[in-house]
Amino acid sequence: MISPGNTIGILGGGQLGRMLGQAAQSLGYRMQVFEPVGPCPAGAVANKEVNAGYEDIAALTAFARECAVVTYEFENIPSAPLEMIAPHVPLFPRPGVLHVCQNRQREKTWLRAHGFPHVPYAEALDGEIAPAVAEVGLPCVVKTADFGYDGKGQMKLIDEADLTKARAIFRGRRCVVERWVEFTAEVSVIVARSSTAANGEPSAVRAFPVAENIHTDHILDFSIVPARISEAVARAAGALAIAIAEKLEVVGLLAVEMFVTPEGGVLVNELAPRPHNSGHWTLDGCETSQFEQHVRAVCGLPLGDVTLREPSVMVNILGDSWRRENGSLLGEPNWEVLLAAPRTKLHLYGKSDPRPGRKMGHFTVRDADVETALRRARELKAQL
Ligand code: AMP
Repeated sequence: MISPGNTIGILGGGQLGRMLGQAAQSLGYRMQVFEPVGPCPAGAVANKEVNAGYEDIAALTAFARECAVVTYEFENIPSAPLEMIAPHVPLFPRPGVLHVCQNRQREKTWLRAHGFPHVPYAEALDGEIAPAVAEVGLPCVVKTADFGYDGKGQMKLIDEADLTKARAIFRGRRCVVERWVEFTAEVSVIVARSSTAANGEPSAVRAFPVAENIHTDHILDFSIVPARISEAVARAAGALAIAIAEKLEVVGLLAVEMFVTPEGGVLVNELAPRPHNSGHWTLDGCETSQFEQHVRAVCGLPLGDVTLREPSVMVNILGDSWRRENGSLLGEPNWEVLLAAPRTKLHLYGKSDPRPGRKMGHFTVRDADVETALRRARELKAQL
């Protein structure tokens, strides 16, 4: 067990690192952050910020030597440098987990090999997508294998004209082609797995309640908890996420994003071995936040209580909410609306440049029933 007072190192300095660091500090840990370019949102709350590239082994090693444990908030870190620092410090989740989860093709191959339900797909690894599209059928979605998030590097194909465009766009790139799923809901389950268990078992694992996620333009817009799905589907989603975390032997958090099919099945869309945007509601709506849970898991502390306090709806605040005219910024969103609203919590990430599509903060609305919370959340968003 790594006890409070020790230093936790976080690779990646965005809002996930910031909220992770805040949770670590609340438990009495010191935290330092490694981010290529500063100043970063996590650096503003860190005991120390180091700015160097992820390929800079000397800087990474020096950083790791100052920490009792190192974790990350960002998947797109090259796994080779991580393998180099692993001998110097406990590093969770281990680099092998990152290696699987940071590349869609490897992730899907892993899911298929272990028999987990996933979206039907075909690989296009030689820079030509046409045969994979023929195998999967239209409509489908082409996704680059590496370094994609929030819908970046993706294109939905409906007809042959789209295919012609997509062949040119994705030529020479490694891709996967997925069948388009007519899902009834998108859900996610965040699971924490600790290296030690309080009752002496080899590890402990705990899943947060299922979140229902609504995306707009490929970016998460609302997370709704409890998800408006049947008990049976919620149980299946939770069990699937736990089984994946155990099979991957994750230490820390694993977010499992899933589609619910019209038949009531669940198909895995994506895995992320880190705190996840669809778990931000836990800060206000759950007994333990996902960030605190990650700290507990990587430090080998007993995992926290994951009971839902009250139905909660989280809304992302993007740079689009800043008032603009002809491209010039006119002013901040109307924070007073959120600050004055009952059972509503505003979280801002301290970012100064509100570019459209950039995640600047979020707010969570709680209410006795989830439909009321969602209605209030939509109203507040419209007034921003
Ligand atoms: P991803 O980056 O894979 O999480 O995709 C971003 C969003 O695009 C998802 O949350 C879905 O809303 C949508 N999407 C991605 N893949 C599919 C698919 N195979 N079928 C239907 N919708 C999809």
